[in-house]
Amino acid sequence: MNRRTFFVLLGVPGAGKGTQAKLLEDRLGLPQISTGDIFRYNLKNKTELGLLAQSYMDKGELVPDEVTIRMVEDRLQQADALQGAILDGFPRNLIQAEALDQMTAPYGGVSLVPLIHISDEDAMLRITGRRVCRSCGAVYHIEFNPPKKEGVCGLDGGELYQRDDDKPETVRNRLYVYYKQTSPLVGYYFAKGLLVELDGNRSIESVQSELMELLAEKEVAQ
Ligand code: ADP
Ligand code: AMP
Ligand code: ZN
Repeated sequence: MNRRTFFVLLGVPGAGKGTQAKLLEDRLGLPQISTGDIFRYNLKNKTELGLLAQSYMDKGELVPDEVTIRMVEDRLQQADALQGAILDGFPRNLIQAEALDQMTAPYGGVSLVPLIHISDEDAMLRITGRRVCRSCGAVYHIEFNPPKKEGVCGLDGGELYQRDDDKPETVRNRLYVYYKQTSPLVGYYFAKGLLVELDGNRSIESVQSELMELLAEKEVAQ
């Protein structure tokens, strides 16, 4: 069997999944697959998929499974995912989790599921202060992870913007959707022996080093 490595990062919106996934990409040589980023890319390019996704994203609801699952299936076929991937924001409910099991079964299934814990109050603060680079997607925080120059990406000079769904009204619904639809995945992966939990209420660097330690312990990263 051609074994591949698939990590699923779990945690409430704002837990730091994207931030950690981007750091892991370079260290592990695996691509970050963020379904939210793919939807936003499609939206920016006004594709049919993007326009469909927008109506759900604006409300903080999940984009229908059929569309989301097909999109991830396609993404996993791309050449850069031949060794595996870091999944960020997918799966988000049990149907998606079962679909991911099927997609990855030929390669040994999901390898490990780190769950990043933060409080709901911290999630609100993190999300409402989040700013994203329009050109490269780098993620900042106005207070906790500010760019050197206000409003400007330190990597490529791109303009930083606030996501439409990062406004407080939408964030509350996204948290609700997390507890209702996504949180059952914690039990799902625990029962499979794949869950590892870590405290996300620390610096980005210390979360990253614990994540690396956990991956090494489980022998899914050297
Ligand atoms: P998620 O992908 O889980 O929604 P992000 O990675 O986008 O979360 O992080 C949400 C916000 O919190 C961003 O503004 C990010 O800069 C900030 N952030 C991420 N990790 C930390 C941390 N350990 N401490 C403080 N702020 C953080
Ligand atoms: P994120 O970038 O992960 O915060 O996701 C932003 C939005 O994209 C979510 O609120 C959903 O509307 C949509 N989305 C992202 N991932 C998924 C998914 N796996 N299933 C359904 N909708 C998703
Ligand atoms: Zn940038």
